[in-house]
Amino acid sequence: MRGHLLVDVPMVSAAISLYPSYGLAPVAWLTAASLLIHSWGVINPRSSLYLPVHWRLPRGCPAVALTFDDGPNQEATPRILDLLAEHRQQATFFLIGEHVRRHPQLVRRMLAEGHAIGLHSDSHSRLVNCWPPHLVRRDLESCAAAIGEASGQPPPLLYRPVVGLKNPVIGFVAGRLGLVAVTWSCRALDTTAIDAGRVVARLTRGLAARAILVMHDGFEPRRANDRTIAVAVARELLIELARRQLRSVALAVDGRRLGVAKSAEADAVALAP
Ligand SMILES: [Zn+2]
Repeated sequence: MRGHLLVDVPMVSAAISLYPSYGLAPVAWLTAASLLIHSWGVINPRSSLYLPVHWRLPRGCPAVALTFDDGPNQEATPRILDLLAEHRQQATFFLIGEHVRRHPQLVRRMLAEGHAIGLHSDSHSRLVNCWPPHLVRRDLESCAAAIGEASGQPPPLLYRPVVGLKNPVIGFVAGRLGLVAVTWSCRALDTTAIDAGRVVARLTRGLAARAILVMHDGFEPRRANDRTIAVAVARELLIELARRQLRSVALAVDGRRLGVAKSAEADAVALAP
């Protein structure tokens, strides 16, 4: 049974049984409670109400995972890849299909340098949470096709919902496509930030074993903005990781669950206390 039915079925049953004796008042209260629970399910990155989400690394993993959304970006992504190479750290990039078609060479570079990639969306439409199943499916399949064509490899199964929002339709489609949804334990809120120091401070507070941090190396199509800040944030964060002797691992799919890339896992275990 899908998680949200565990909420909906008892709520509806209670409303039906209470209405003849008590009228509309309990129905209104139950409706309000249901709306609150569903809002939490949509917004909270740790909620698996509509689909199983992974918001931190598997149990026992002493590493962290740096993740970047909305790329690849012609300016910021190569500079972030340079920084990751310099610090010998790995990351995961959740890609937008429209950008992948413009910069396929950056997708190949990510993979060649041991990073992981995942689906984000083809268009990154803000209306995705209002779409019917066939539009959500078409968007994700277009993104997967763009990545497959760019990389020459089967499309990834890692998936990050747009803005981390979930609903029953997205849960249904992601399940049908066999995707493993990844959200985060800490986000940078860096898309509109102008002070890299504040963003770094926010992320640094979330640095702990098993943390999944989200930043943005790219931008939503047709909402272009300067991603220089992303490079500055990545630079400072990588210095902080080195200071704390923390390893950032690339994500991977392990069956239908979240894992970490094998080579990175070996390094991470070596760093375990
Ligand atoms: Zn995004």
